[in-house]
Amino acid sequence: MLKRPRMRKLVAGNWKMNGLRADGVALARDLAGRVGAVPPPCEIAICPPATLLIPVGEALAGSVIMLGAQDCHAAEMGAHTGDLSATMLRDAGCRYVILGHSERRADHHETDSDVRAKVAAARQARLVPIVCIGETQDERAAGKTLDIISRQIKGSLPPDLPGADLVVAYEPVWAIGSGRTPTVAEVADVHAHIRRTLSAEARILYGGSVKPANAKELMAVANVDGALVGGASLVAAQFWAIAEACG
Ligand code: PEP
Repeated sequence: MLKRPRMRKLVAGNWKMNGLRADGVALARDLAGRVGAVPPPCEIAICPPATLLIPVGEALAGSVIMLGAQDCHAAEMGAHTGDLSATMLRDAGCRYVILGHSERRADHHETDSDVRAKVAAARQARLVPIVCIGETQDERAAGKTLDIISRQIKGSLPPDLPGADLVVAYEPVWAIGSGRTPTVAEVADVHAHIRRTLSAEARILYGGSVKPANAKELMAVANVDGALVGGASLVAAQFWAIAEACG
């Protein structure tokens, strides 16, 4: 059996549509201060709303914390009012971009092929995509979880994507913001399934109600290479505790 290369876990914070300049910058400075005092136990990224990318990037200057965005357009430029291209995000200092989050799939009707085009654009701009996949409550209840995951991976990822620059986040839709999580065995099952379809270098994050109280247990599951964190990423002490649980 091929051994997987040892890789650093990644903990990424998805701030969603939260934060004005003052609190976003204060949160970023707080995290940068913690990282400055103690070497981080894992790779850390924060993904603020687009309005905060520049000031948060400035607050992170000199820190190892990476900046990420929450979406991009598939085109490089042009007549797309209100959208941002991957190249613009790279120019704003981003290293990562979250793509295909279930909230965008639901609120903006994004399909797997939309997500795939965005992933290709992100790669072209040298951004690392964090591609979100996950089943709804009904799909899980119907025993369709692994089929949905396979379909989303096949549809959302361009075939020639190098694994070293790919992050996939397994986020059961029913676990996002609900305080509910799958069991450790269920997480292990889905992550093993994802791992079989991706190259060994790709990182697979778990996301959905990760909190300091459950992070250690979730991060210890085989093939869990870190976490995508929503609500808890808005509180520096909680986000930091989750990062520490990855150590
Ligand atoms: C998310 O939306 O990516 C997420 C993981 O949210 P939460 O941690 O709040 O469930």
